[in-house]
Amino acid sequence: MTMTTTLALTGANLLTCDRGGTVLTDHTVLVGENGSITAVGPSHELVDRAASVQRQIDCAGKWVMPGLINAHAHVMADGRPLPQALMIPPAARAIVAFWKTPLGRPMLRERARGFVECELNSGVTTMRCLGEYDNEAITLGRDSERRTWLGPRMTASGPLLATTGGHGSEFGLARIVDAPWEGRKAVRQNLRLGATSIKIAATGGVTDAKVVGEAGRPQMTVEEMTAICDEAHSAGVLVAAHAQSPEGVLRSLKAGVDTIEHGSAMTDEIVELFHDNPKSLRGWSALDATLLAAVPLVEIDTEITGASEVVRENARIVVDSMTQGIRDAIKNDVVLGSGMDSSMTFTPHYAMWRELDLVVSRAGLSTARALEAVTRVNARMLGLDSVTGAIEPGLSADLLVLGANPLDNLRALEGVEKVITRGDVIDSPTVERFGEIDELLDTLRS
Ligand SMILES: [Zn+2]
Repeated sequence: MTMTTTLALTGANLLTCDRGGTVLTDHTVLVGENGSITAVGPSHELVDRAASVQRQIDCAGKWVMPGLINAHAHVMADGRPLPQALMIPPAARAIVAFWKTPLGRPMLRERARGFVECELNSGVTTMRCLGEYDNEAITLGRDSERRTWLGPRMTASGPLLATTGGHGSEFGLARIVDAPWEGRKAVRQNLRLGATSIKIAATGGVTDAKVVGEAGRPQMTVEEMTAICDEAHSAGVLVAAHAQSPEGVLRSLKAGVDTIEHGSAMTDEIVELFHDNPKSLRGWSALDATLLAAVPLVEIDTEITGASEVVRENARIVVDSMTQGIRDAIKNDVVLGSGMDSSMTFTPHYAMWRELDLVVSRAGLSTARALEAVTRVNARMLGLDSVTGAIEPGLSADLLVLGANPLDNLRALEGVEKVITRGDVIDSPTVERFGEIDELLDTLRS
């Protein structure tokens, strides 16, 4: 690993990713040796400084924006429909058990590394991994931070915390929590693994529900979640809750959960708690919208997705409620982030832009706000706004060079020409695409 090259991006159309969609023309960005942005301004003002740097990238006719932040990722699979065998709990548990053996562990990590590299090459320069087999995402994040590997910035949770029989528990993916003190212990175990986030299953989920209506049903008690939040917050760590019904969201917020994953339609009480949440780490909570993992299960033929009728019906209920929840967040100015739940069926790691596209077309978010969500808002939601998420002096040089303007069409994000992560340039980022899946996902665009 070589040291960061001092870099200038000159003559760019700069997407500030503010709420209004401001674009600054003919701007230059200077990057220092430590990988941070040192200056941003009109090119004519920085021409002398730009001339003396080691590397100049001429961005005339290009668009430069902050790197994408995927606030809800997994590094368990490639995003194609999961083999049916994996949906049978004993088979899934056997596979999970293998990954944790001395033989399986390095294989697991290498697999995960490929998925993370795919995200990076598609423009994701920061990701939050919410639920992993063991500590594979934690380890990759650490390697990337130490720069022994060219990866994105990662925050990772270690294994999910769930109740007996709860979401994720049947697959051997979760630490089981059936009492407040078990919750505290599970948080401590994950923190010892190096976790920098905590993920809980507050309610049932779509993929493993056995009956219609189970997705979204409250599973973890307020007492359990309160203990988990208290323990995590003591370590300065944010808690994310999978919550897919108004009751599940309300209980999570009352317990002090910081980010609601997926979400649901909001009552006035829920809106109030998002804005003013005394038990959360920062006094407010955020909604992390994820539509891409659920919409295809409803709208694409079950023969292709492999979804059972129960899964499809639960997905339908959840998608309707999540979409309403996003509308409620927009209307009430709740902090609204974005994650794609990568690794789930039909969420390939290069598809972050499609998540934004769905939120725009299905829930009425403006394109400018979608770009704000995936950069500035996600950075704030994850507590990283003093590190990344915008193009400003002092922030990490996490940048994308695009050949077209994503404000005109979010598909411009599909062809990222260069990815810059902590000042390191990836000149020809490439990802392995799944043509058939992309074609099907295109049918979801309106
Ligand atoms: Zn997830």
